[in-house]
Amino acid sequence: MLARGMPGCPRPDPVAGYDDWYTLVGCPNLDFCPYCIEDVFERTIYRNGFRRAVPRSLNTKVQCAFSTPWIRLAYILTLQQRKPDLILMRDLAEIEQTSEPCPGSVESIRSWYGLRDPEGYFVRDFHVCYNDVRKIERLLPTLNGLFTRLPTRASYEKRKCALRTEGNRFSLYLDKILDMHDRAVATRKLPDSMSLINLVERKLRIRECERDNMLLGGLWHFNPSMPDFTVCEDCYEEIVEPEARKNSDIALRFNRTVQPVYGEGIGTSCQLYSRRMRKVFRTAIKEDDIKYLGRKAKERRDAELRLQERYRDVLRKARRLEERSGGSEDEERRLEREMEKISGEWKDMWE
Ligand SMILES: [Zn+2]
Ligand SMILES: [Zn+2]
Ligand SMILES: [Zn+2]
Repeated sequence: MLARGMPGCPRPDPVAGYDDWYTLVGCPNLDFCPYCIEDVFERTIYRNGFRRAVPRSLNTKVQCAFSTPWIRLAYILTLQQRKPDLILMRDLAEIEQTSEPCPGSVESIRSWYGLRDPEGYFVRDFHVCYNDVRKIERLLPTLNGLFTRLPTRASYEKRKCALRTEGNRFSLYLDKILDMHDRAVATRKLPDSMSLINLVERKLRIRECERDNMLLGGLWHFNPSMPDFTVCEDCYEEIVEPEARKNSDIALRFNRTVQPVYGEGIGTSCQLYSRRMRKVFRTAIKEDDIKYLGRKAKERRDAELRLQERYRDVLRKARRLEERSGGSEDEERRLEREMEKISGEWKDMWE
């Protein structure tokens, strides 16, 4: 939903070495890359709200704010509601500065918020940070009070934030949340939280996708004649199962229950969490081309194994260097760059 016709940002990860950033006037904590300014804002009434950012050290890593889903959402709502300025983005910048940041997937102690069902019981194992609650309430005011603070004792346990933006569940949850808001606006009634609660409870029953983490001895959905293409329960339910229900031959060939993979070498990871592979899968379904899927899956798996081996090798060298503690700084930096290069190739070409 957040991609809706808007160009992707070429600087989605924090990166050093550029001095061409822009910022939103009055919000120095938001940086925008020149591509997003040019592609998204250039011929809009909002362009005047941006100016060049004050130069800083070229060693500082900077991330383009327009690559984050919240800022994108703020802009989509700005357009939908024909706001005269970028007040929603400013509000998000302000929230970011005045609330503890979302801990994301780092297990943290927070004053957590949760969802209550109509009987008043909290949905179990669902914890949202206050920063995200504030953003939702600011952007989607009909949802004020939807998330309520969990009893104090819940705050002393380390949790991950359920609305962390990394991972695929975020956009599922956010779509549902937007839906609730739209309905509440259209019907002028209080939002109905049941559809979100049902989705959350369904998702919490299965393990979340571990993405490219290599697991040993895991259980997977796969097509026995294409064992390279392993899919986790989470992605199976989201992507493969709906196609199986539509009787797609390719989807029906996957085992319906999770099973172990034999001869998995250094490990197995989910092959269907990335946007790229989901696109490959959809194309294969649409054209009913299982060979294409098999070829793409094999290419990816080969690249994954090759890059993993290389990465581990560099990591081993770096560790050895550390142990000797006499290694030159140049060598350390070279290894660090090598690791970044491997991760870059994975992300840009194969993931
Ligand atoms: Zn950008
Ligand atoms: Zn959060
Ligand atoms: Zn997955």
